[in-house]
Amino acid sequence: MSKSGTQSRRQTSNRERLTVLVYDDDEAYRKLIRSILGQSRKVEFNILEVRNSRQMGTALKRHIPDVYILDLELKGKSGMDWLREITEKDIAPVVIVTGSGNEQTAVEAMKSGAYDYIPKAYLTYDLIFKSLLNVREKWELLRERERLQKELTHMAMYDGLTDILSRHALLEQAEVERQRTKRYKRDLSLLMIDIDHFKKVNDTYGHITGDLVLKEVAQNLKKQTRRSDFVGRYGGEEFLIILPETSIGKALVLAEKLRRRVSELAIPIDGKVLKDTTVSIGVAEYKDDSNIDEFINRSDKWLYAAKENGRNQVQPQSGKNDH
Ligand code: GH3
Ligand code: MG
Ligand code: MG
Ligand code: MG
Repeated sequence: MSKSGTQSRRQTSNRERLTVLVYDDDEAYRKLIRSILGQSRKVEFNILEVRNSRQMGTALKRHIPDVYILDLELKGKSGMDWLREITEKDIAPVVIVTGSGNEQTAVEAMKSGAYDYIPKAYLTYDLIFKSLLNVREKWELLRERERLQKELTHMAMYDGLTDILSRHALLEQAEVERQRTKRYKRDLSLLMIDIDHFKKVNDTYGHITGDLVLKEVAQNLKKQTRRSDFVGRYGGEEFLIILPETSIGKALVLAEKLRRRVSELAIPIDGKVLKDTTVSIGVAEYKDDSNIDEFINRSDKWLYAAKENGRNQVQPQSGKNDH
């Protein structure tokens, strides 16, 4: 059986295929459901029968059906408990069937995550068939919506080219860190990093190569920092790194490590290797700046000093001269 529910819904000779796991401790009902679904000419149902709690436990680990059909009155662990477990695992939608169906049970099952509810007295082809297809479609639409939402969140948070934090996310995080640092009197430093003579890279090798260099530098900055640091793209070929709990002394050490790392990069391009990429880095430590722009501007000022001083270097060389 295929691992993913969506993938297991294959077209086989014009017939859609749907794997249904039926857990009912009454053999007669399992047989009934199997024979009803066997009538379908539109869908080929692959039915997995489960008859007791132990089998269900194993099935839950092994199989990922497209839909579960679950009886509510079961010996041992109750149908409602199984329903909650399946829902929590978020693997496939559940259709409940039950003999002593009353409205209250149905409502409770739907609240616990069931996608549909069929009383056993109405187990007809039309009802089961429609229910399974509807439920599966609803499930897939919800998954698709979740996927799109995740993608949107990612797009807003991360830069499309380099896949490090976007400017927007960086600025928000920087403000959060500034406030936290101010309140708890912690250390906080910023590194403003700009690629040297990047215009020349574009002019010499073209924009696509320029993009490649940007990605490579970004990924290296990310790799060389801690998970608790925030690395992002501040602008075109400018990166900002937020370093929580980091004094200027430690920030300078990291900046120097990053500067050296970038200068040692050998970036493969069109059969050649680009070796002379360098960055200039401005370093600033938080000093009661009244807003984040003020703080960032100070790191930018030191970046400018690094450029003026000849590039491929870190400024300030010493924390003492940061006034
Ligand atoms: P400096 O050492 O003073 O920083 O010189 P520079 O050439 O790096 O700086 P300048 O600001 O003159 O040029 C930056 C260049 O970066 C110009 C711009 O085309 C390029 N750039 C900005 N964003 C991107 C991008 O996303 N892709 C590519 N390929 N180039 C970019
Ligand atoms: Mg039963
Ligand atoms: Mg530059
Ligand atoms: Mg620049």
